[in-house]
Amino acid sequence: MRILMIEDEARIASFVKSGLESEGFLVEHAADGATGLELAVETEPDLIILDLILPRLGGEEVLRRLRGAGKTMPVLVLTAKDAIPDRVANLNAGADDYLVKPFSFSELVARIRARLRVTDQPTSNVLERSGVTLDLTRRVVRVDGRQAELTARELALLETLMRHAGHVLSQSQLLDQVWGYDHDPGSNVVEVYVGYLRRKLRPDLIETVRGAGYRFIDGA
Ligand code: CA
Repeated sequence: MRILMIEDEARIASFVKSGLESEGFLVEHAADGATGLELAVETEPDLIILDLILPRLGGEEVLRRLRGAGKTMPVLVLTAKDAIPDRVANLNAGADDYLVKPFSFSELVARIRARLRVTDQPTSNVLERSGVTLDLTRRVVRVDGRQAELTARELALLETLMRHAGHVLSQSQLLDQVWGYDHDPGSNVVEVYVGYLRRKLRPDLIETVRGAGYRFIDGA
């Protein structure tokens, strides 16, 4: 799957690009709107990640011209918090989804997978381990048959841990995956959220591996 990212902030661009490449996507990057539009029309990527505030040509105009040229690939728009709801409401040019900055990497990947699945990837969307069932499409979690109410961040953390069940993930890996580029490296937020998951799900599901990180137990 080929993704074109049109984003002028170098820090976000390199964070997203390296993350998506490690997930197996091919990523091209354009740092301004005009170059992005040109690449989009020439290379017809499977999906476009489009920032709204861009040099040379704004994201809304890129989107309008892209749709005007008959290009129908999914477009995931990145917006700043204060741009909502005005700009989004004005965006009648055909965006498929929105992500508010700052976003976490796992949220971005979930949105990308969801968009690409709509067009052609029939992959399983349910994770099941150790008595926990996580339905990523419906955002529903069941543990030992009962439904648990999790916040978006808790879901993202649970998804990351479950995808690597049986393996230890370090605090900084979890920060990168779940909290994204915007996190404070000294924060104890991972420990706090692991605590929430243990309380809401089951205390034994996530092990603390001293000095290394956290591991979701790899049961049947
Ligand atoms: Ca920007």
